[in-house]
Amino acid sequence: MVDIVLDRVTKRFGSQTAVDALETTFGSGQVTCLLGPSGCGKTTLMRMIAGLEVPTAGRILIGGRDVAGLPPRQRDVGMVFQYPVMYPTLSVAENIEEPLRHDRSVSGGERAKRVDEMLDVLDMRDLRDALIDELNTGLRQKVAVGRAVARHAEVVLFDEPTTNIEVDAKLTLIRAIKAVTTRLRQTIVYVTHDQTEAMTLADSIALMEQGRIVQQDAPRALYAAPRTRFAGWFLGNPGMNYLGTEVRDGAVHSPMLAAPIPLPGGRNGQVVLGVRPEWITVGAGRAEGEVTDCVIGIGGRRLMTVRLGREVVRIKCSAAEAVAPGGWVRFSVPPDRVVLFDDKGEAIAA
Ligand code: ATP
Repeated sequence: MVDIVLDRVTKRFGSQTAVDALETTFGSGQVTCLLGPSGCGKTTLMRMIAGLEVPTAGRILIGGRDVAGLPPRQRDVGMVFQYPVMYPTLSVAENIEEPLRHDRSVSGGERAKRVDEMLDVLDMRDLRDALIDELNTGLRQKVAVGRAVARHAEVVLFDEPTTNIEVDAKLTLIRAIKAVTTRLRQTIVYVTHDQTEAMTLADSIALMEQGRIVQQDAPRALYAAPRTRFAGWFLGNPGMNYLGTEVRDGAVHSPMLAAPIPLPGGRNGQVVLGVRPEWITVGAGRAEGEVTDCVIGIGGRRLMTVRLGREVVRIKCSAAEAVAPGGWVRFSVPPDRVVLFDDKGEAIAA
């Protein structure tokens, strides 16, 4: 197993910096998802790891080996793209087997074994002899996954493989990718702008903004403890609420809080309260606001928009707790369920 070390990796296109002195490690045998808004540099970073793009500066080490100057073929890296290139007139099994035929170190018996293994993990045994032309895009992409993974490369890179796939097939594909990556323990880098996908697949999420990784953490940690306002806003649907507070006597006061939160080291200055919509409890509390909107979300939960003074708060609650627009609602948040941010947008350590 190998890890991927990025040592101040930079990529500039003219005056544009796509990847900016990035320094991190993608863990061996782990699935790391590169997540972030459009244009933040995910694809460029992945293409540099693959050898399809040359860094302007910095080093990339795969398993301790500096891969500068190594063409893609010599990097022992498999890839799955948004639009897989397939042999339409070959069968599913033949497509998976195809790259193995070019590898002299893999015997005929071993090839057959790996194809069977892939068909098994991808749950495609019944489609072994189907032609690619007969498959929908979701199934084709599954074959592409099998093909990239069957080589047993140390590293497999995925570039938004589910983008063009409809919802149902997407879930099946994600499940298949999860099964494959769990089984083979290859080092995976997976580019996506879909946070649900990242949450499902990743051991670690590297959240990117403007060519930098702003936070790299296990999905739950990233969700519960964002280190910047950007991270809190980008994850979640909708993301975190940010509300003004009053700092008095070394503590943060807000009508939403049942009790003030003491600030570490008696610090002062502006503090913003970060609260996820589902962390808020409705029905009681000092805060009271007018409901301006109430919509039904996934699983029948309600998403209310509430005006609190000059601020707007999004609250997730059950159908029974929901209040129709025009009504008023009381709410609060437990002091241990908030994240405090300073005036630079960085989380304040408790
Ligand atoms: P998306 O989610 O939209 O694919 P991304 O996060 O993958 O975005 P990149 O495609 O890596 O972002 O692009 C990062 C920045 O670099 C963008 O501003 C993009 O316009 C620029 N860029 C990428 N490739 C090139 C190129 N070949 N020439 C010039 N600029 C480029």
